[in-house]
Amino acid sequence: MKKVVYIFAVSILLYGCPPKLNDQAEYVPVTATIDLVNVTDDKVAVEIDPGRFSEESTTFYIPKTVPGTYSTDNYGQYIENFKALDYDGNALQVTKLDENSWQIDNARQLDKITYKVNDTYDTETEKKEPVFSPAGMNIDAGKNFVLNLHGFVGYFEKLNTHSYKLIINSPKDLKGSTTLTRSQSLVNETFDTDIYVANRYFEIIDNPILYASPDIASFKINDIEVTLSVYSPNKVYTAESIKGDMEKMMRAQKAYLGDINSTKKYNILLYLSTLEQTDAQGFGALEHHTSTTVVLPEAMPRANLVQAMVDVVSHEFFHIVTPLTVHSEEIHNFNYNNPKMSEHLWMYEGVTEYFANIFQIKQELIDDNDFYQRIMSKINGAKAYDDHMSFTEMSKNILKDPYKDNYANVYEKGALIGMCIDLIMLEQSNGERGILDLMKDLSQKYGKDKPFEDEKIIDQIVSLTYPEVGEFFEKHVIGNTPIPYDDFLNKVGLAFETKEVESGYFLNGQDPFINVNQGNGDIFFRAEVPLNSFLVKLGVKGNDIIRSINGMNYKLDNIRDMVGTSFAWNPGDEINMVLIRDGEEITLKGNITKPMVSVSSIVPVEGASAASLKLRNAWMKR
Ligand SMILES: [Zn+2]
Repeated sequence: MKKVVYIFAVSILLYGCPPKLNDQAEYVPVTATIDLVNVTDDKVAVEIDPGRFSEESTTFYIPKTVPGTYSTDNYGQYIENFKALDYDGNALQVTKLDENSWQIDNARQLDKITYKVNDTYDTETEKKEPVFSPAGMNIDAGKNFVLNLHGFVGYFEKLNTHSYKLIINSPKDLKGSTTLTRSQSLVNETFDTDIYVANRYFEIIDNPILYASPDIASFKINDIEVTLSVYSPNKVYTAESIKGDMEKMMRAQKAYLGDINSTKKYNILLYLSTLEQTDAQGFGALEHHTSTTVVLPEAMPRANLVQAMVDVVSHEFFHIVTPLTVHSEEIHNFNYNNPKMSEHLWMYEGVTEYFANIFQIKQELIDDNDFYQRIMSKINGAKAYDDHMSFTEMSKNILKDPYKDNYANVYEKGALIGMCIDLIMLEQSNGERGILDLMKDLSQKYGKDKPFEDEKIIDQIVSLTYPEVGEFFEKHVIGNTPIPYDDFLNKVGLAFETKEVESGYFLNGQDPFINVNQGNGDIFFRAEVPLNSFLVKLGVKGNDIIRSINGMNYKLDNIRDMVGTSFAWNPGDEINMVLIRDGEEITLKGNITKPMVSVSSIVPVEGASAASLKLRNAWMKR
């Protein structure tokens, strides 16, 4: 065991003396220190030492947005107690320019800044547009820290391309899991210190760290070392218990991708939420070059959790192809505080999501019907969004209204755009080339350090493929004509089949027509699924909040009674439903009718042509 002096004391000693020439900001790394040991009021203390400035004034930024989230999150709103200190420890004048930036006038006098960071997980239910949990911060003293570092560490004007040194002091029983380069680990009397290094600010935020009681498993896929770190608060899951499923999935993924990526290490950081009011509510994951942060509910049954991990982690890993390798200048020179968006979310998210589905059928992780159901659910899912909105225009303006509410369509229609391009390419090449080949070509032409020009890439793609691909882009991606999915399915001998089937009054099998506002317990009708015939006839609309039914008030705490009571309803009975619509109370009266829903599915066409069967094989089989 080796003891060292408390790291804060060292820095005080160092800068107690007059500044030396070689500590100028141009020559020294920005040093950030995060204290996970002395946590007070659920806040973590951070200190940033940029070295000595020669400019009169400087501005410090915490990101407004980060790559991959496509939303304005203003991480600066979680910063408190911001102080700029001179070399004698006196506070300097600071002007807060906006939610995410602080101007320091006497920059030459500036020794360091200090501030406290709040977490995002415990206030998600209070915010209208909360930070997506996999991009958020969690501070649970002594137990767990989710360090999405863009929420903890900022950057000084002009210094975001400088190297960083990140010092993290942590309780002895917590270990950090990350792909950030660790240069040193120090063992002290009462806490541990990890020292990480990064070549530029981007590397800091591209490598989140999970500090928790270690639960880690690793495996190798060819030459990629994969590490899985799990935080399961009630120890429901362990890294070891899901390692096998992850290994099988990633092996299939690598087999599908071939030699397209060159990552040597990959970390999966899995945070499982208790679903309590003060815990994470945003489930899914965020991609990084060599890792992903995944957030899921701990209460998920094993089979569902594993399938969710397969879908989510494969999606994140496919992001290595795009946007992490193939991306535009907007993404490459990402401006965290004044972001310019790219037109090509159909590629970054859509093609990625398509890959996460097509590889599962091609590598036989799922069967044909399962695959058809997935396509069907994307076609249905896309109906909740504006089908007449140009996808490139939406993408370019994704941070603004009315585009931002259509963001989630990148996972539905975006994936279907990927499917259509795949089918056109396969058809034109006689089954020889598909969208994976296109992405391989693009990743050779461009790359991690060679972005494409946003407005030129579609022409490039057309020149690498077929005029039919260009027509598709013109009409359905740049243009606003809805995609005729049946025409595309027809190419491979598939068709839609629709049946009317009976549903429950509030549930359609596993899929409810209602949802609950976790914040206030209100029950409301979902807008993103078609309601059953009974609800439609009665006049119910998506987003209507239920006040009472037949005189009985309902909220989350008696939702079971509401659903239970409906089992005894009979067609013809009278019903009286009081709802809140757009803030106004309305009463719907009528009779109960048999609830029916139309169920569409994708089915193979009897007697499909040999050519279409051949194309289907080229599309879905190895
Ligand atoms: Zn994604």
